[in-house]
Amino acid sequence: MILGRLALGAAAAWAAYTLGAHVLAAGCVRRGPATRRRIALTFDDGPDAVWTERTLVLLDKQQVRASFFLVGERAARAPETVRRIVAAGHEIGSHGWSHRSLWLCGPRRTEAEIGRAHRFLSEAADRPVLHFRPPWGMVNAPMFAALRRCGERCVFWSIQPEGLRAAPAAEQAEHVMRRAHPGAIVNLHDAEGVRGAPERLLAALPAMIEGLRAAGYDFATVGELLEPRGSATLGIF
Ligand SMILES: [Zn+2]
Repeated sequence: MILGRLALGAAAAWAAYTLGAHVLAAGCVRRGPATRRRIALTFDDGPDAVWTERTLVLLDKQQVRASFFLVGERAARAPETVRRIVAAGHEIGSHGWSHRSLWLCGPRRTEAEIGRAHRFLSEAADRPVLHFRPPWGMVNAPMFAALRRCGERCVFWSIQPEGLRAAPAAEQAEHVMRRAHPGAIVNLHDAEGVRGAPERLLAALPAMIEGLRAAGYDFATVGELLEPRGSATLGIF
């Protein structure tokens, strides 16, 4: 009986720590202001020595600047790719140090995941990293204090053409065009994600970019989309 109550208490505390924190996630950004016809393409889980490099070539050809939410320990293994992302004028955001879900991190580990990635990526980018995307979109209560200490803001997305289920390239391009709106933040994967995600993305990108341009959209980094800071539309994840 007592054990049962303890278990119930622990479960309630964990729910407050994780699910409850999603209520606080009202402070996270999902989209930019709808004042201009601009869209931010964001790439998660890199850098990848093969797929990020190919993505960079494609973005360069299409003259699109975007935001890359890098995993710290992957960035440490691919410094050349990180340098090329920066040199091409893209924005670097943080996707945590090891891509561990914050639902599985205590306060100290949360601080370490966010702080270590912030320090490493800011140095690699040669400017402070301002945006953080929680791995798997999962937040916990200590995340907000850790982000405040780093001067980072939590950024989700308003369009996600491929989530937990693989979607063919053509379907992804259509999905983005159908849901496109001024200030949209599009969640894409240039590494990891669902099996084969970077390859499908690369096939989807040309039609996606051309389609959005034909619909009158320009491209911006998340930083540009949200400038000046504080004017972004906030929403609950
Ligand atoms: Zn991720």
